[in-house]
Amino acid sequence: MTQKIAVLAGDGIGPEIVAEALKVLDTLRADFGLAVETEAGLIGGAAYDATGTPFPDTTLKLAQQADAVLLGAVGGPKWEPLDYSVRPERGLLGLRSELELFANLRPAILYPQLVHASTLKPEVVAGLDVMIIRELTGGIYFGQPRGRRNNAQGEREGYNTLIYSESEIRRIAHIAFQVARKRDKRLCSIDKANVLECTELWREVVVETGKDYPEVELSHMYVDNAAMQLVRNPKQFDVMLTDNMFGDILSDCAAMLTGSIGMLPSASLDKAGKGMYEPIHGSAPDITGKGIANPIATILSVAMMLRYTLNNEALADRVEQAIRATLDEGYRTPDIYSEGTAKVGTVQMGDLIVRKLRA
Ligand code: NAD
Repeated sequence: MTQKIAVLAGDGIGPEIVAEALKVLDTLRADFGLAVETEAGLIGGAAYDATGTPFPDTTLKLAQQADAVLLGAVGGPKWEPLDYSVRPERGLLGLRSELELFANLRPAILYPQLVHASTLKPEVVAGLDVMIIRELTGGIYFGQPRGRRNNAQGEREGYNTLIYSESEIRRIAHIAFQVARKRDKRLCSIDKANVLECTELWREVVVETGKDYPEVELSHMYVDNAAMQLVRNPKQFDVMLTDNMFGDILSDCAAMLTGSIGMLPSASLDKAGKGMYEPIHGSAPDITGKGIANPIATILSVAMMLRYTLNNEALADRVEQAIRATLDEGYRTPDIYSEGTAKVGTVQMGDLIVRKLRA
């Protein structure tokens, strides 16, 4: 059965990097029999310019009907003066909530060839391959009540609510165990169960869910220690499971261990495994149109799509292998360039990866 991918290139470097990811998909289709079709849609500033909204109904329908969404990036200075309700970022948030993409998967991988791009010592980060799984639609960012008020003493106060239902915890825990099962089978759940009742429940439900996955080794860590361990010895982790706020912070910390934003993909999944796949970086207005953006994060997002939605582990491995082989030969876009390597542009990097894919 042919599966459908909605392709939303967005703004800035979005169209440049998505074009390279599409070359990879075309090759998988033509040479490896991958049964997918793609359909392009508008999102973000590009959608606002064309239709007056960053998230047109046609895009929502396209995304709802598709099996997966491939997204470039949204935003840029051109749209910053706009009202918040029509800013490009609203398109992205709208998509996440309409599709109920509650599970955010962010791998932090440091390719051995790029070990000097990290600010940490090579021996600490070489070979790093951590997957952070963050709950994306609940917790303190959405909990009610929230707001600001004056208290009885007439002093201003602000308040938010950290709340998770058992079912919200259980569904993200299932995803985490399933991902761990496809990797090194070690899952570390992050909480603050010594202080917060909500995360005490988190721990309890994760332990219960773990009974369905006896092959996965489960451990727990308080978030303050996890932050320290990520910098001290990040290679101890395989998969980390976190709530929305802890994950927000820890996943950025983990991303920086690798030192190169142009290399990191992400996936956001719903309960049926449908997903939106995108690089973690933004629209990079400073380099837009220069032909130097690194397309690897977007191509790695295609590999994640193959692994988590299209269930084609073999082709996912093949794409990742093609990227590794290209880096092995010394080709680098300017963001990951170092002396002694060969500097290439966006299109050339895409072509080189496709060549390795076919080899
Ligand atoms: P950014 O990620 O766009 O850029 C940060 C820096 O990293 C820039 O110097 C940029 O040139 C560089 N960079 C990013 N991607 C790169 C790539 N593939 N290759 C080489 N270099 C790359 O973050 P920003 O500058 O803070 O934000 C720019 C715009 O993007 C803003 O409008 C912001 O709201 C938006 N944004 C969108 C997303 C998204 O679409 N998911 C995420 C973050 C930011």
